[in-house]
Formats: sequence, structure tokens, C-alpha cells
Amino acid sequence: MRAYEALAASSIDAWDREADVVVVGLGCAGAAAAIEASEAGARVLVLERASGGGGTSANSGGLIYLGGGTAVQKACDVEDDPEEMFRFLMAACGPGPDEAKIRVFCDRSVELFDWLESHGVPFKRSSYPEPGKEPPTDDCLVFSGGEDGWPYASVAKPAPRAHKPQAPGAAGAFLMQKLLAALGRTDAEVLEDARVDRLVCDAEGRVVGVVAHRVEGEVRVRARGGVILTAGGFISNPEMVARYAPQIARANWRVGTDNDDGGGILMAQAVGADTVRMDAASVTIPLYPPKRICRGVLVNAHGQRFINEDAYAGLIGQRALREQGGRCWHLLDAETYEVNEVDMQAKVVEDSWEDLERALEMPEGSLVATMELYNRHARAGRDPVFHKRESLVTPLDTPPFGALDVTLGGCVYAAFTLGGLRTTPAGEVLRTDGSAIAGLYAAGRTTSGVAADGYASGVSLADGMLFGRLAGASAASHRSAGGGS
Ligand SMILES: Cc1cc2nc3c(=O)[nH]c(=O)nc-3n(C[C@H](O)[C@H](O)[C@H](O)COP(=O)(O)OP(=O)(O)OC[C@H]3O[C@@H](n4cnc5c(N)ncnc54)[C@H](O)[C@@H]3O)c2cc1C
Repeated sequence: MRAYEALAASSIDAWDREADVVVVGLGCAGAAAAIEASEAGARVLVLERASGGGGTSANSGGLIYLGGGTAVQKACDVEDDPEEMFRFLMAACGPGPDEAKIRVFCDRSVELFDWLESHGVPFKRSSYPEPGKEPPTDDCLVFSGGEDGWPYASVAKPAPRAHKPQAPGAAGAFLMQKLLAALGRTDAEVLEDARVDRLVCDAEGRVVGVVAHRVEGEVRVRARGGVILTAGGFISNPEMVARYAPQIARANWRVGTDNDDGGGILMAQAVGADTVRMDAASVTIPLYPPKRICRGVLVNAHGQRFINEDAYAGLIGQRALREQGGRCWHLLDAETYEVNEVDMQAKVVEDSWEDLERALEMPEGSLVATMELYNRHARAGRDPVFHKRESLVTPLDTPPFGALDVTLGGCVYAAFTLGGLRTTPAGEVLRTDGSAIAGLYAAGRTTSGVAADGYASGVSLADGMLFGRLAGASAASHRSAGGGS
């Protein structure tokens, strides 16, 4: 038998367990799905392969992309509406984002914020000035996707949208603790140390259950209404990465747990599910905070700039890895030099741009020409080539000149996969012909969500929870379709 191969229901004499809705995986998407299905009146069983819920969600920074006028945005006098959020995400999450999902994501964002608060996730009515990363304090609102930089500031009215639950520093564990507590207040049951690796189908192809493995042996679980796959992505499956997303195979930091092994996707593929954008990935480099460091100039191995340095770090990371082969240097002069939050220090220091160009083995004249052009415009306070915001444009002409190592050998390139099962906003898993597989739903990084290729920090937790909830509601509403009570 091939791993993940589906099992025919006719081969099962007796089920070990039964539920209306079976949720596979207990990260943010699984927790949201289980809470929603349970509150809709379904009997829910969650199967989690680890010894407790949390998944990658619990290791995350906890930034949740929410907007359109949340209570925190209003308290911080941030003007936002679902249309501006939609315009930004359509531009930033492309090319080719799923418009229907982004529409629902934006229209229901305030409601998701309210749902989180009403389920015990607190948010301080405050913002934090440094963008890009979770605040070290318990403050809430930050820019997290380059909304206020080029080119997005001209596409949509910039607004900070990443909301961090009220805990200092990374808040993923805090978020999951609150979600698991909310789940505990429902009637849903959680079975831990239960790794699901097969779906069970009836003669019509409807998914009617799963097979899980526990230390004591196999557990056959019948799902009367539906199975929801929320088992994470595939960054920890080297074969899948090599096959579908080879451009991130060289990323040197896996953003995920060992359980992000693509099992949810493979199980669904075995029953005919389609996948979308399997090459898509978030790749981030920790160039800032502090944002001030973007006064420097980021160049490739040919001494040439390729992006505005104040762009979203995830966009810089993607471009640096995919298009520049992970061979980049961030250059500062004596006036702008500082060590950033992750202690990146100048690896090479020289007294002139010529000497730095030589030391970094760049083609003769390349870096010198780049710096001459950059400084000429910077003296007029502008960057007409890559449109870095004017407040961060300053001539770099005070020696010595230093180069921060942004190569794959010297800098973190943190990646996770964004591609996955093709689903509707309601969570139904689709075949290649566009028809829905009866009884099968999915959400979170097991699916392709809001981010088709581009990304903004906070989108993953937010789309995991929103589409998890919608999948939970869908499966609960079909709970008698499988033939049970
Ligand atoms: C350091 C770090 C910082 C991050 N910061 C942010 C951030 O600030 N904002 C943001 O939006 N995203 C962030 N991310 C990304 C984000 O955490 C993930 O993309 C997101 O949590 C995925 O949620 P999920 O519910 O789909 O998967 P997970 O949270 O990984 O949950 C999947 C669950 O399924 C279980 N599972 C897997 N296979 C099986 C199986 N076969 N049977 C049973 N159970 C199974 C796993 O054990 C796991 O518990 C960050 C990630 C990291 C690592």
C-alpha cells in the first residue's frame, strides 16, 4: 500500500470512533474549525499527531492580518475599510491571487477580530512604530506588509493591519493557548498522539472517515458530516519542496515544525484533490528592525540594486533568493551604520566604494557606478530608480563603508510554503474539474489561501482561522449527509 492511499469504506467492518466533523491537525486553522463546528451543534473530534495542540501556529510571532476598521484600528485613529484592504492584498499577494477568497477575507475581517475577542483573545488598543515584526511589548498594531512603501502606497491607502494579541514579544503561543481554552469550553473532543494518514471513501467517492495511527494501533474514525484537513504545509518534506518549490530548497531556515510534512495535501491528492500555486512560498530575511537601517543600499553580486530597501522584508527575501541567488550585500556608511536587531554586523569594511567593490569581488566599476547614481539622487533627497521613501534616502558618502552579509551563507533566509489544496472560500476541496469532493474540507497551510505568491506578515494566521471557521461551519451543516444522525 502506498502511504496516504485512500481506503474503501466497504473494507471497514467496524468503526472505532464516530463524530459529525473530524478535524485533522490542531493549529490555528484546526482550532478555529473545531470551535465553529462545535458551536454549530456538531459533534467534533480533533485528531492531532503531536502530544498537544499548537502546531507551527504556537511557534509564530502571532501577528494576525486584520483590517477594514477593527476596534484597535479605530482606537488608534487608523482609517481603513475593506475596499482599501482588498486593493492592497490583491496587489501584494499576487500575481494571480484568489479574488473570491480575498473578498471574503476583507469583508469578514472585522468580524474575525470580534470573534477572536469574544473567544478570549485580547488585543491592546495600541500601535507600535517599528514595522515588519511582532512588537517586543504587548502593543498591538503594526505595518507588516510594506503597505506604506512603494508600490503599494500608491495602490491603496496605507494602513497598519497586523494585530498582535496582548502579550509581550512573539504571541503565537499565547494565541494558541487562548484558542485551545476556547475549544475546551465546547463539547469537542481532542485525541492527541493520533497521526492521520488515510482518508476513507464510500463507493460514490464521498469522504466518510479517516484512519489514524496511535501507539496502541490503528484507529478508524467515521465522519458523518465531513473531514477537515488542517495539517499545515510541506516545508519539512524535502521531496515535495524539491518537486514543487525548488526555488526555496536552498532557504536555510525552515519556518515550521517537522509535522509540516505535506501529509494533509498528499492524503487529499490521493482522493483526487487539485492543488494550486505549489511553488509559492514566503521567504523573509531579518534586515530590519530598526527600519532606519533601510537608509543603506542593498545590492546583488553584480553591485546593482534590485528593490527599494524599505520594501516588506518578505518581498526582499523572495527577490533576493529567487532572482539574486541569495548573493546580496547591504551597504552602509559611517553615518548610517548600526547593528540591527539580529546582530548583523559589517563583514567587510573599506575606506572607499572602489575598495569595497574589489573586496566583494564585484565586476569592476559596478558598485562604484551604483553608488555614484544613488548618491547623486540622494543629495536631492530622492530615489527615482527604486522609489525608497524620501525619509530614508540619504547620501552614503562618509567612510568607512561596511557591507552586511545578506548571502545564504551569512544571513537567515526563512521560508514556508504557501501552496496547497485548491479550496472554495467555504473550505470545500476541489478536483481538477472544479467539482467539490463530498465530505472533504481544508484550511490553513494545507491549502492555497489568500497569498498566491506575494505575502504580508499575519496573513497566514488570519486566513487559517477565517477559512478554518468557514470550513467548520460547512462541515457542520452537512452533518447528516454522511448518513448518520
Ligand atoms: C517563527 C515563526 C513566526 C511566524 N510568524 C507568523 C506571524 O506572525 N503571523 C502569521 O500569520 N504567520 C506566522 N508564521 C507562519 C504561521 O505560523 C503558519 O503558517 C500557520 O501557523 C499555519 O497554521 P496551520 O493551522 O495551517 O498549521 P499548524 O499550526 O502547523 O497546525 C497544523 C497541525 O496539524 C498537525 N498535523 C500535521 N500532520 C498531521 C497528521 N497527519 N495527522 C494529525 N495531525 C497532523 C500538526 O502537528 C499541527 O499541530 C510564523 C511561523 C513561524 C515558525
